[in-house]
Amino acid sequence: MQPVNLRSFKQKVFHHKKAFKKFLSKVEKNPPKNINSIANKTNEAVWQEIDCLSCANCCKVMSPTFTTNDIKRISTHLKLTTQEFKDKYLFYDKKDGDWMNKKQPCQFLNLTTNKCNIYEIRPEDCAGFPHLKKKKITDYIHVHQQNIEYCPATYKMVEKWMIAINK
Ligand code: SF4
Ligand code: SF4
Repeated sequence: MQPVNLRSFKQKVFHHKKAFKKFLSKVEKNPPKNINSIANKTNEAVWQEIDCLSCANCCKVMSPTFTTNDIKRISTHLKLTTQEFKDKYLFYDKKDGDWMNKKQPCQFLNLTTNKCNIYEIRPEDCAGFPHLKKKKITDYIHVHQQNIEYCPATYKMVEKWMIAINK
C-alpha cells in the first residue's frame, strides 16, 4: 500500500474532476443493473490501496456534521456542557441545519500522527466517511461528487467504477 500523496492527488483532481463528475451524473441517472456488486467490489479494492493515516485530508479540509448525540457524547467525554462544547468548537449552519466545526483542520486531529484524538467516540459522520458502501448507492452519488475533490479514496472508487462500467 502506497502512502497517499496529496500533492499529486490535487493535480489529478484538477485535470479530471469535470469528467468524473459528469460520469457520476450519468450513473445517477442511469445506473447499471449490477451497481451494487460493482460498488462492493470497488470498495474492497479501494481499501487495499488507500491508507487513511497517510492522508487525513477529510479531517484537514472538511468538517463533519455533529448530531445531537455526537455533541452529548463528546462533550461528556471532554467534561464540558453541550453549550460549552458548541461555543468552543462549533457553529450552526442555518442553511443545512447542521452543527459544524468552526475551524479546519479539526481540533481533534493530531497533526503529527494523523490520528483522531477522540477516535472511539468520533462523530457518526466521521465513522461512516467516505460513505462508499452506503445503500442505496445512487442516493449517495451527489455526496461522492462533492467528496471527489477532497478524498483520494472516493476518487479511486470512481476511477474503478469507470473501468468496471465502461468495459
Ligand atoms: S477518508 Fe478519504 S480524505 Fe479521509 S483520510 Fe481516507 S482517503 Fe483521506
Ligand atoms: S473528529 Fe476525528 S475523525 Fe472526525 S474530523 Fe475530527 S479528527 Fe477527523
